[in-house]
Amino acid sequence: MQRAERKEAAQASDASEVAVAWPLVPTRPPEGVAESDWTDWGWQMRHRIRDVASLREWIDPTPDEEQAIEALARRFRFVITPYYASLMSRTDPDCPIRRQVVPRMDELGDRAGLSDPLGEVAHSPVKNVIRVYPDRIAFCVNNECALYCRYCLRKRMVGDEEWTMQKRELERALEWIAATPAIRDVLLTGGDPLVFSDARLEWLLERLRAIPHVELIRLGTRLPVTLPFRVTEALCAMLERFHPIWVNTHFNHPRELTADAARACDRLLRAGIPVGNQSVLLRGINDSLPVMQGLCETLVRMRVRPYYVYQAQLLEGTAHFRVPIEDGIELFRRMRGRTSGFAIPQYVLDTPHGKVPLDHPFAKGREGDDFVVETWDGAIWREPNPR
Ligand code: SF4
Repeated sequence: MQRAERKEAAQASDASEVAVAWPLVPTRPPEGVAESDWTDWGWQMRHRIRDVASLREWIDPTPDEEQAIEALARRFRFVITPYYASLMSRTDPDCPIRRQVVPRMDELGDRAGLSDPLGEVAHSPVKNVIRVYPDRIAFCVNNECALYCRYCLRKRMVGDEEWTMQKRELERALEWIAATPAIRDVLLTGGDPLVFSDARLEWLLERLRAIPHVELIRLGTRLPVTLPFRVTEALCAMLERFHPIWVNTHFNHPRELTADAARACDRLLRAGIPVGNQSVLLRGINDSLPVMQGLCETLVRMRVRPYYVYQAQLLEGTAHFRVPIEDGIELFRRMRGRTSGFAIPQYVLDTPHGKVPLDHPFAKGREGDDFVVETWDGAIWREPNPR
């Protein structure tokens, strides 16, 4: 097949899978709730949904969902912010927002899943500090989030008192960082570091900035997605005193890209904080080309860089979310050439040894003086490249 024919065939096979532009619509408070309460992150945290009765105000739970809420109450209970609940479909149990946060009985049918597939506990020199690479750490500063995602890698600790960081434990972790000069990059994660008050976060950042070898501080937070009102002007003004600060957030589906979420990201960006996005590839949620492309292109419109998409781990209770890795590689191969290169995140597998990129092998190798590559539309190109 000639190059032009191949290109035509590639375009024709994708014609039914067109990404749509997502409109960034603001959320509205439900009847009886004042706008000033709805946009107050403290109000949102105090009014989180934790039982079936309050869930019914937002959706009509299926018998499976109700049974799962009861059965999983002790293992990994559910918590949802009213903001995020307002994005769920009342009637469709397969709604991609609802599936991320409302329990299902599928969670109890996963025989292969592990509680700590990356061996994070074994990689912790002190409580809640995870060191896989020589120069950087993930520092799980708390174990609370605004809501609990059903596929959470840290479900072993999220919401569990045993993993709460007391101030003396934070101090111990800070002492370990100060005594370990190889650490130049600290990712504050959890749980979610933005669940901390401004004052507590400021204390932590001041302590970290007092350690000369800590060059970079990153925040891993899902609050721009699940509770964007947390990203206040006051928070951003405080954060920008501690530059360089980077934020990675975690949008999984274009329906999460509301005007409220866009405003939260814009505030961070205007404070000079680069914002990247890390998704998890989730079956039935974002494993199709139109959804992934729509997500990434809308993030770029918001000036948020699609950075990583993680393969879902072999984690307890998540078999129904996992996608075969070959399907993931094919998904991102098909994005190449269909959209701007910087809108294509890197698909990665996290392992106990660190992250491994899962790329389609576009580079085919050497043939004499040529280096052979496959182009986005399936053509083979021989680049003259004598050694
Ligand atoms: S926000 Fe992150 S840490 Fe918290 S439950 Fe969701 S995936 Fe887990």
